Amino acid sequence: MKKNKLIFVLLLLCSITVVSSVGTFFYVKLNNNHTAAEDDILVMTSCNPVYIATLNVLDGVDGYRVENLSQPTTGCLHDYTLTTEDMKKLSKADMLIVNGGGMEGYLEDVMEAYPNLQIVDTYEDIEHSNGFIGMDTYLIKEEEKEHDHEEEKESLPLEGKVAAELTDEVSNEVSDEHEHHHDHGANSHIWMDDRLFKCQVTSIANALMEPNRNREETPISKNFLEYSNKLENEIDKQGLDKTLAGSNVAILHEAFAYTAQSLGANVVATMDLDEERQVSAGEVSEFLDAIRDNNVAIVFAEYDYGKSMGDLIEEQTDAKVVYLETLVHGSYDASSYITVQNSNFSKIRDIL
Ligand SMILES: [Zn+2]
Ligand SMILES: [Zn+2]
Repeated sequence: MKKNKLIFVLLLLCSITVVSSVGTFFYVKLNNNHTAAEDDILVMTSCNPVYIATLNVLDGVDGYRVENLSQPTTGCLHDYTLTTEDMKKLSKADMLIVNGGGMEGYLEDVMEAYPNLQIVDTYEDIEHSNGFIGMDTYLIKEEEKEHDHEEEKESLPLEGKVAAELTDEVSNEVSDEHEHHHDHGANSHIWMDDRLFKCQVTSIANALMEPNRNREETPISKNFLEYSNKLENEIDKQGLDKTLAGSNVAILHEAFAYTAQSLGANVVATMDLDEERQVSAGEVSEFLDAIRDNNVAIVFAEYDYGKSMGDLIEEQTDAKVVYLETLVHGSYDASSYITVQNSNFSKIRDIL
């Protein structure tokens, strides 16, 4: 018994020694890596779509580090403000790649705080046809009418729990703090149309290749070509660009205006629901009317904010509601753009 105990203690000591030397080894290794990484070009990205694009463009390329700023856990990016941790990272960054078009409401503050930080604005590049002549026609401008939130509060033709909930909230918050969404009069969720996402990838690759004006093959240009081909070949619309072409759809999140556009469908009714968005009963009944009047068969929605309205739509009209991903929340890897788009298309196909 005693002997056993001694052996046990010895073993324990041995393992402690092993553990601590392994620990030291890793510590040294990590430290070395860290020093090496200090010289890397730190590329920060503002949101998942440009993060995914940048990961693909810089895949395996030496000398770069890609980091995404923190992402909102609820709501959309345009309502988001940066954490102090984000600002700290930006102070060390060499480049910030943004979606643009008003999506990053904090952008001006960042530019003011770090005037030397190189900013790549993918929306701007498309808008000003920097290399993609004609693609700016795919940029969707906001409809003015979306902000007539206050009208017709008295008419409450809807009954049931959902309608009551929706109307209860109307009076409290009105649209002034909502205005910043649409500062540029643009719908900036451009990545949802794969053709525009390809332009974003191009814009990012162009910015990163800037020092190489001769356009000889480089690891970045090779990645760019590979990823562009991948997007071309692996995004599978499953025939929806034929099935839905010319048909009428409604959307419960403005991101899906680009999904509809990429399939050739017409958006006949938009209700942009997000966490701060309050909807009046008048607006709800107008929306339901638009669905009925235009024979809308399918409504694109985001689950978190669209579910109760979605239930109401399915209860009161013949339209079916499909819940899609916008890529705004959560963490993604390099392959996510293609898998998320394809799963969105599968969901649409399955509900038709
Ligand atoms: Zn949004
Ligand atoms: Zn709005």
